[in-house]
Amino acid sequence: MEHFKVLNKEKDSHARCALLHTRTGDVHTPVFMPVATQATVKAVSQDDLAALQTECMLSNTYHLYLRPGLEVLKKAGGLHKFMSHAGPILTDSGGFQVYSLSRLRKISEEGVKFSSHIDGSPHLFTPEKVIDWQAAIGSDIWTCLDVCVENPADYGHARKALDQTKRWAERARRHFDKLVKDMPKENRPLLFGILQGSTYPDLRAEAARHAAGLDFDGFALGGLSVGETKKQMREALAAVMEPLPKNKPVYFMGLGSPEDIWDSVGAGVDMFDCVLPTRYARHGQVLASAGRYYIKNAAHRLDDQPLDPGCDCEACRKYSRSYISHLFKAGEMLSHRLISIHNLRFLINQTHEMRRAIKENRFEEARSRFMSDYL
Ligand SMILES: [Zn+2]
Repeated sequence: MEHFKVLNKEKDSHARCALLHTRTGDVHTPVFMPVATQATVKAVSQDDLAALQTECMLSNTYHLYLRPGLEVLKKAGGLHKFMSHAGPILTDSGGFQVYSLSRLRKISEEGVKFSSHIDGSPHLFTPEKVIDWQAAIGSDIWTCLDVCVENPADYGHARKALDQTKRWAERARRHFDKLVKDMPKENRPLLFGILQGSTYPDLRAEAARHAAGLDFDGFALGGLSVGETKKQMREALAAVMEPLPKNKPVYFMGLGSPEDIWDSVGAGVDMFDCVLPTRYARHGQVLASAGRYYIKNAAHRLDDQPLDPGCDCEACRKYSRSYISHLFKAGEMLSHRLISIHNLRFLINQTHEMRRAIKENRFEEARSRFMSDYL
């Protein structure tokens, strides 16, 4: 059985609905994956996530490796059991966290040496170790160690990082193949390659061709949504989509703004993750069909509407903006939980609307309507 089946493809764009089969369960796409950085989606329980119809979660190899540590996860029987999550989990490779969190890092052919952002202790990540660690974590979709660059990056630097990422991807692929060789097919995890290349379309296209040649189960776009302009993001996206095979999933790492998700689905992207919904919640920012707003604004003090009138989440079914605004201003933890639940549900609802629109061949119309209401 193929692990990715396109169910519907819209005529006027590249938008598509598909079914991604993993060893732990099926995922409908387009999909938004909540992020469980420290083996938890901040302020939200697994029952909450189930109620939000979460189909796949993301967790970070870098964070889990440093804390709680792999021996804790092994003892628990893997991350699914440890955090009590029954559905599919994708783990990233740690490349982005080594780049963004650790100040002291040194990249060599072997791997990347860095000191922990928690206690300064020294560590070495190699393409092979990162595969072994994802095996210990027990996630269902694994990714290859990559080299991220700063934004903006000069061409020479981006070129060098891409070349290193390509060589590491080849090593990760070989190591993965050895590891899963004797596994029954239904127990095998999926392996995604990560595409780098900064904002340079020729490097992006080269990354895509190289990863396609390694026959990964899916392709993750790394190093975007890091402060580049929308034009640069669109150009980089267009450059990778062309050479990628059409029968594999494409995952845009770290993209969470609703308008960018609509645009990227129109370009053919299937999977998304971002900490944005829960980070916004901690700052009292609410995602809503009529646009994003701050709950603490004076206008909401006496506002008896739900956070977003069209939403079906627990926060919107039970509480008013007035109440949640009061909780937020009083520093009550419940406000973080309720806005997190709502913001996550908002993005998941968007993906459901996209799926309906693609099936009915009206994706472009639905996208325009969303944009005119939201922006
Ligand atoms: Zn809601």
